[in-house]
Amino acid sequence: MMTKKDVKIKPGKLFINGRWVDSVSGKAFDTLNPATEKVITSVAEGDSADIDLAVAAAREAFENGPWKKIDARDRGRILLEIANLIEKNKDELALLDTLDNGKPINETTNADIPLVIDCFLYYAGWADKIHGETIPVRGDFFNYTLREPVGVVGQIIPWNFPLLMAAWKIAPALACGNTIVLKPAEQTPLSALRLGEICQEAGLPDGVLNIVTGYGPTAGAALAEHMDVDKIAFTGGSATGRIIMQAASKNLKRISLELGGKSPNIVFADSDIDSAVAGAMTGIFFNQGEVCCAGSRLFIEKSIHEEFVEKLSNKAANMRVGNPEDTGTQMGAQVSKEQFDKILGYIETGKQEGAKLVTGGERCGERGYFIKPTIFDAVDNNMRIAKEEIFGPVVSAITFEDVDEVVRQGNLSVYGLAAAVWTKDIKKAHRLARDLKAGTIWINTYNAFDAASPFGGFKQSGFGRELGVHALELYTHVKSVWINLGG
Ligand code: ADP
Repeated sequence: MMTKKDVKIKPGKLFINGRWVDSVSGKAFDTLNPATEKVITSVAEGDSADIDLAVAAAREAFENGPWKKIDARDRGRILLEIANLIEKNKDELALLDTLDNGKPINETTNADIPLVIDCFLYYAGWADKIHGETIPVRGDFFNYTLREPVGVVGQIIPWNFPLLMAAWKIAPALACGNTIVLKPAEQTPLSALRLGEICQEAGLPDGVLNIVTGYGPTAGAALAEHMDVDKIAFTGGSATGRIIMQAASKNLKRISLELGGKSPNIVFADSDIDSAVAGAMTGIFFNQGEVCCAGSRLFIEKSIHEEFVEKLSNKAANMRVGNPEDTGTQMGAQVSKEQFDKILGYIETGKQEGAKLVTGGERCGERGYFIKPTIFDAVDNNMRIAKEEIFGPVVSAITFEDVDEVVRQGNLSVYGLAAAVWTKDIKKAHRLARDLKAGTIWINTYNAFDAASPFGGFKQSGFGRELGVHALELYTHVKSVWINLGG
């Protein structure tokens, strides 16, 4: 079995132009294991000077480096090799994310890392299939389109799925031939650094992928507002998304945003109740509730309400919360003290608002940022705990009686990332799939993902679609070429 000793952590360096370098300021910060509150290692603190160097390296690699000349199929081959090397080092990578984030090793091993590998495999297949079209225009012209990489891409990622979020960003951008400056979240920088090393080993030319660790308002902001960055892709909170959009307006760089959510998980009386209970558990407690598409508003039809809440609370109360490195653990630690305090604050808010605390509602143990799976019942859709993203293991149960009413309530949110419906009635399922305003609709399932299927939000959950063929839109320009065939 993998132990901490087997994890190769790059000490305190940034990855710029294929080399491991200190930050310009020489500053560094510690990254903690949230399960133990102990320091794992020190990480370089990049700032605007480092972002400048990384962007310059990415620009040079884009305009003049070998990357530009590599045949598309060979770009795909490099992506394939990255997938192979991740597979080869999967236990180490899983442990790195578990240590840095606090999520259970069972999940990093069986969910995060396989999805990461799949993402690189999927986009490896796209690299030589990105092409333009010929268009029958009026007049004596030959018109065709070229699909070209956007250029230097800045990517800012969150801490909830550290390596997976890096993969969602890096794989399609590389498949399209861009160069990248990636800024991982300050809470979880380690697996991205290791991925930089893997990409280099896979044959990615210097400067194509640069990784600058550092804080959001410094390194992240410098990347978002940089005049020589052509596109910014961001996943994180809606408040930060707003700041990034403003910063990006400086040079009108293209942006895509994948932001927060308050997704409705709607259970009808005609569903398979036990499956729906299991789905509600996954919907809110997977990854300690630190999931942008978490099913945090649980709408339950009145006639099954009591039975459902009882079954759910029994399961929640029996979840194994604890040491993320233990293979039997079902829920690990929240990522940081800041998140831990924020979630406990929302639990207090829920009590004050008059919601009924059914189970959980407090920290778990004395050390580490563990919180018990928490269920609030008798929630009103207007309460803060039903409106604001908690980003923790706290679900708000709301009772409903009527189909139209639940659609209306479900859509009564500033967010629109995902929604789920549990029913055996095919008509109702498709009707709700049509009427719910969200980028992903799950019917009789929750948290289903695939590299081939698009993901992104409506409303304040952001715009642009990651994954699938849709991500190629994010990372390419279309150029229209006109040739005069006349006299
Ligand atoms: P949270 O508040 O849940 O930690 P954020 O949205 O702040 O989530 O963080 C997601 C990513 O955005 C992280 O990599 C973080 O460093 C970065 N970030 C935070 N603030 C800014 C900012 N002002 N400009 C650019 N990036 C930022």
